[in-house]
Amino acid sequence: MIPFELTILGCGSASPAKERNPTAQYLKWGDRSFLLDCGEGTQMRMLHYGLKSSRIEHIYITHLHGDHFFGLIGLLTTYGMLKRTSPLKIFGPPGLAAIIELQLELTGSVLSYILEFITWESSFAKIYEDEQLEVFTIPLSHRTPTCGYLFQEKPGLRKIVRHLVESLKIPVEQLTAIKEGADFAGSDGVVHLNETITEAPRAIKRFAFITDTVYLPSIAPMIGEVDLLYHESTFNNENADKAISTFHSTAEQAAMIAQAAGAKRLLIGHFSAKIKKDDLGALLSEATNVFNNTILAEEGLKVEF
Ligand SMILES: [Zn+2]
Repeated sequence: MIPFELTILGCGSASPAKERNPTAQYLKWGDRSFLLDCGEGTQMRMLHYGLKSSRIEHIYITHLHGDHFFGLIGLLTTYGMLKRTSPLKIFGPPGLAAIIELQLELTGSVLSYILEFITWESSFAKIYEDEQLEVFTIPLSHRTPTCGYLFQEKPGLRKIVRHLVESLKIPVEQLTAIKEGADFAGSDGVVHLNETITEAPRAIKRFAFITDTVYLPSIAPMIGEVDLLYHESTFNNENADKAISTFHSTAEQAAMIAQAAGAKRLLIGHFSAKIKKDDLGALLSEATNVFNNTILAEEGLKVEF
């Protein structure tokens, strides 16, 4: 099983803060790497933490607020200077491609690689799939079109119960079909249903990245029993009104989503610049009162799952 490793490059929100950078996360899975949001300074954060930006295959942008994508043009043009050759996919909202293409054009930037934009509409949909991985958009409610992302490993094949291969005399040429779900008819005419001769494949790993959104209980079933849920927690309970008026969530609301979804672990971030480092413990308590297995994001934190 390949573990995921998530590194927090930035966990601040819109206003600059001394101790926090705007949103960006680096998701490593074996030798594959993905970037989630790309606030200002993301390139420098990757250098600082020794993460290879050249390895990034896909960039996932949640919405067009500057604290989530103002670092993108810098990274893309750096790739050009470094003569990157591997193609790069960027997933994001309508308008992102136009902004980036205009910046590239007016700055006379020439890219050395194929840049492909995949524009989503706000819905729960599969936007990427390969042999190992699936990625879904989760529609959020913010002040501009916004989607979170769900990363999901593909399930492997079912496992045939070993001793039955011999006792039922299953021919070699049928093994793959049975692993893929087929039933088996023995030479005596008895049909063995797939679930009686196979075991479930190993559990798959799942990660959801939810930012920015007002408290939105309807997303819980889409998130489901993820191994790790990152959910924005811009405000504390004292500022719950502000969360509503700015379309953000409180730490307690993030915990309610984790609880309702059945998440295994919750990671909270996107803290308001007004919440000082010393006050994060209180914010964490507001979440753990609802969902115990919660951790605070901080710059450079690595979470394996
Ligand atoms: Zn926002």
